[in-house]
Amino acid sequence: MSASGIRFDEVSVAYGRNAENTVLDSFDLTVEPGEVMALLGPSGSGKTTALRAVAGFVRPARGRVWIGERDVTDLPPYRRGVGMVVQQYALFPHMRVEDNVAFGLKAQKAPRGEIAGRVAEALEMTGMSAYARRHPRELSGGQQQRVAIARALAIRPGVLLLDEPLSALDAQLRSGMLAELARLHRELPDVSILYVTHDQVEALTLADRIAVMDKARLQDVGTPSRLYRRPGGTFTASFVGNANLLPVVGGPEGGTVRFGGTELRVGDTVRDAVRDGESATLCVRPHRIGLGESESEGGAEDGGNVLRGVVTGLQWRGATHRITAEIDGHEVTAEVGELREPPRLGERVALRFAAEDGVVLRG
Ligand code: ADP
Ligand code: MG
Repeated sequence: MSASGIRFDEVSVAYGRNAENTVLDSFDLTVEPGEVMALLGPSGSGKTTALRAVAGFVRPARGRVWIGERDVTDLPPYRRGVGMVVQQYALFPHMRVEDNVAFGLKAQKAPRGEIAGRVAEALEMTGMSAYARRHPRELSGGQQQRVAIARALAIRPGVLLLDEPLSALDAQLRSGMLAELARLHRELPDVSILYVTHDQVEALTLADRIAVMDKARLQDVGTPSRLYRRPGGTFTASFVGNANLLPVVGGPEGGTVRFGGTELRVGDTVRDAVRDGESATLCVRPHRIGLGESESEGGAEDGGNVLRGVVTGLQWRGATHRITAEIDGHEVTAEVGELREPPRLGERVALRFAAEDGVVLRG
């Protein structure tokens, strides 16, 4: 199968008698051929709806859906060349594994002589060859999900849609399956994958790019590192990784902001430019904040932003300490490596971070 991407062109989906509930609003997104795109957002943000619009299970009220060079908006699901895996495996309980995997091929009227070979290939890819004769009830949850993936792959789809495929599994299985999915993607470099999840770790681990959704809309799209280092807005900043979001106003010089009584230097890219007196939000990741006035080996090198306050929260997390301090009426959290002598509650501390680790967001 040749590589084919996915394109949402201003897709809107609405429910209700008068289509009054818009659950996907002018959704515009391109998944490149062979790319893994995560759709990341809270429950109810419209992720599954977007996926179902690609699969052909919901009809957009407006807009078009493209797979490769084809406008598939009016095609039935079985003609779209799409494999789909949902959270709850959805295997046919009365069918053996091999018949479950063959199901899509039979529905597509694949030549009889090809079916057995394709089923064997898909089971091989998912490590399930030894289980072909079993029924779903004779398999663990993780094995059932592998069979569901094999079933999706058997039709050799150009596009693979995965809707929270790991959320029914326990934590340990989940991380193993995540590695398995990454391996599968390397084995199938031409297959575009749209991966729906509300779990940022899954999205950061697996995706080439992440599309962040909230309230039926696309909020931000970019590589994991761009979203993490330069989030486009406060929603992305707080949903992708932890963030301190501090109210600031633009300072008199470019590249400076005021937070309470303190002037801070920030990374001065064009996007971050805020005018003197303009309100904005400063995003600083907790693990980019250090403790103390300056780094013992080097000092002012790190840009010299220092916030002084009183410790209001302490959590020891094994490899790190989370230290929360109240500064000018706001809580600021630092996540620092293990300390021999962590500060105590009520103690005065200085938190420091480099200018380049302060990202200014509008609003
Ligand atoms: P997500 O996958 O991000 O949790 P969904 O796409 O499943 O979100 O749902 C988005 C919104 O659309 C939710 O408010 C949900 O209740 C609503 N919704 C989904 N499917 C239907 C439907 N068939 N009829 C009415 N409302 C629906
Ligand atoms: Mg969903």
